[in-house]
Amino acid sequence: MALHDDDLARYARQLILSGVSEEHQEKLADSAVLVVGAGGLGAPLLLYLAAAGVGHITIIDGDQVEMTNLNRQVCFATDDLGKPKASTAAAFARRINPSIEITACDDWLDDKLADQIISSGLIVADATDRVETRLMINRFCHQNKATMVFGGASRMEGQLSSFRSGLDETSPCFTCIFPDISSASQLPRCSEVGILGPVTGVIGSLMAMEVIRQCLMPDQPFGSDLCGKLMLYEGKDHFMQTINVKKRPDCPICGG
Ligand SMILES: [Zn+2]
Repeated sequence: MALHDDDLARYARQLILSGVSEEHQEKLADSAVLVVGAGGLGAPLLLYLAAAGVGHITIIDGDQVEMTNLNRQVCFATDDLGKPKASTAAAFARRINPSIEITACDDWLDDKLADQIISSGLIVADATDRVETRLMINRFCHQNKATMVFGGASRMEGQLSSFRSGLDETSPCFTCIFPDISSASQLPRCSEVGILGPVTGVIGSLMAMEVIRQCLMPDQPFGSDLCGKLMLYEGKDHFMQTINVKKRPDCPICGG
């Protein structure tokens, strides 16, 4: 999609970055991203993707805004309490950038919906805190040749990675890296262990960077992506590291 004068002004500060061209901005405008979860990760993720000019964004969440969300879910205000999260978040993002297409789905992602939405070329940002949904996203992304950008945060810690196992046979999938996670009881939820708001801000913003990188593949004007790597963040002492991760030949999702 060709850029208008307004677009050149809106995206001026990212277009003058070294190595970034108008073609990259046009590619962002043509990109389709599904954001699963309009919570602590989904809020900064959605807003930065909209601000950066990702052209087609779908946000899905079946929840309503609660008072306990407001320490971290920065696309909601106190007078949004009780409103559906996805359409409320989408309305906020449209105010930032009315020139892109944002679709809200106030429902939970299930197998039927995932099979309809998750298609080849789509970038799926997993910003949910539900293990079952995460495993479902991984399965459908692998089967339908979509890219999965995974982020997780609880307490003062976060993780981030990308999986392209359906597109690249050397890429691990989520299950390769977390083979033992199979039910909700194995992963802490914010409602049980707590979360400091800026930790979801850090990880959600890093997810936005990673989604933008994936939108522009195979070009890498913003540097290399996180496929085959896992980034770990520890907020207590501001420690961040990236480790290499490998595909498992015996993975039940992407192996053999
Ligand atoms: Zn795998």
